[in-house]
Amino acid sequence: MADRDVDLFVIGAGSAGVRAARVAASHGARVMVAEEYRVGGTCVIRGCVPKKLLVYASRFSEEFDEAAGYGWTISGRTFDWPTLIANKDREIARLEAAYTATLERHNVAIVKSRAVFEDAHTVRLANAMRIRAGTILIATGARPNFGPEIPGLEHVISSNEAFHLRELPRRIVIQGGGYIAVEFACIFAGLGSKVTLVYRGENILRGFDDDVREHLRNEMRGRGITVTCGHTVTAVQRSGGEFVVRLSDNSEVKSDKVMFAIGRRPNVANLGIEPLKIRIHEHGGIEVDEFSRTSVANIFAVGDVTNRVNLTPVAIREGHAFADTVFGGKPTPVDHSNVPTAVFSEPEVGVVGLTEAQARDRLAKLDVYKTTFRPLKSTLSGRDTRVFMKLLVDATTDRVVGCHIVGPDAGELIQIVGVAVKMGATKADFDATMAVHPTAAEELVTMREKAASYGRHAAE
Ligand SMILES: Cc1cc2nc3c(=O)[nH]c(=O)nc-3n(C[C@H](O)[C@H](O)[C@H](O)COP(=O)(O)OP(=O)(O)OC[C@H]3O[C@@H](n4cnc5c(N)ncnc54)[C@H](O)[C@@H]3O)c2cc1C
Repeated sequence: MADRDVDLFVIGAGSAGVRAARVAASHGARVMVAEEYRVGGTCVIRGCVPKKLLVYASRFSEEFDEAAGYGWTISGRTFDWPTLIANKDREIARLEAAYTATLERHNVAIVKSRAVFEDAHTVRLANAMRIRAGTILIATGARPNFGPEIPGLEHVISSNEAFHLRELPRRIVIQGGGYIAVEFACIFAGLGSKVTLVYRGENILRGFDDDVREHLRNEMRGRGITVTCGHTVTAVQRSGGEFVVRLSDNSEVKSDKVMFAIGRRPNVANLGIEPLKIRIHEHGGIEVDEFSRTSVANIFAVGDVTNRVNLTPVAIREGHAFADTVFGGKPTPVDHSNVPTAVFSEPEVGVVGLTEAQARDRLAKLDVYKTTFRPLKSTLSGRDTRVFMKLLVDATTDRVVGCHIVGPDAGELIQIVGVAVKMGATKADFDATMAVHPTAAEELVTMREKAASYGRHAAE
């Protein structure tokens, strides 16, 4: 392939692109990756990592409140947003440098430029330079969606800008009901902002188990967040130093910032893919097969741009599998089932497998186990909060097909439960596992009473 500059050209150095580039290079491929913004992509620069740092910051307020019941007196506590943002930015810069160094160590050439297709084997960089490649990988991720045009949309920020606000807003309206909207609502509330969450659907976290949605909404309300479902923001008007946010029921909320987190759109526009006839799926992502191959044989796509399961570990797995398939001689499909996931709200959510509604649809017989209880820590602190846990069991096979947790460290717990569910653990396996006492997690192995049974043998 003498007419090729590289074996693989990767467009986008995010979670998926970086992993694919590094692994392909380690298989011996000559690799170049283009990044138009910052190496590391959404997760590292303006997604998971900075968000989790803000989550940590926001949780101190509850810790301080709870400390009193344990005998602590904490006086004169203050919070400085610019310090948090500066420290967060320093850590993100360190991570970006680490990602860059890893690529360089694997002899991946990095070009800091936007890249677009010229033809199926050629990409054009911003300086008009053309690179010929045997294989091209689209790993361009996704961007915030702002929805239909409304008056005052220019005043609205997305999560991208939320990471760089000069000051903590005293009041913020957030539109959206997905995990990013919910997480930012909890972050700002924990840091002391007055938060109004506006969501057009009937309850937050669409797609999650209904009990989880209800439990979290109540917990958020208990923490002073106004959760307004069934409405949308119809206009944002600047009025002096504040914004007047009009909702679809004609009510108004005054706010210092307005943020929309109403979904993300795969980055497929202006990439030059239309003439190549790369097929776009009806959900807006690039259509790919199980090996992430697009409708054009030498062009692949991984990560959020394919709009399959839009999470960092999935993007990384897809990037790795692509490199093993195309450059490692080991065809590797990615299994998108039973992906454990967390919402870093306050309290946290951790889920894996089917929701109760999905399980009822798909299984002949279903047993539901659930529990809600006051965490031990709250007994002395007096905090009014409850943990929620649910196990869904296929009553025909006894396999645990879903686990849903709302409570402290739910994200950590669900990682481990995810292993058991992926392995096909049965309810009997859970029951046979000795409890760790005193923990919240022990409830997962001590739930004996069915809350409900559905199916041919249904009792309820
Ligand atoms: C606020 C927020 C919080 C999140 N929290 C979590 C979480 O807690 N856990 C989790 O698992 N996931 C989380 N995610 C999702 C996660 O960030 C994404 O799933 C993941 O980053 C997808 O990786 P990717 O490589 O597909 O895309 P990205 O990481 O978005 O990388 C794509 C890269 O391509 C670049 N690019 C785009 N077009 C071009 C072009 N034409 N030329 C050159 N470069 C280009 C972009 O600048 C970007 O750097 C979060 C996302 C957001 C926005």
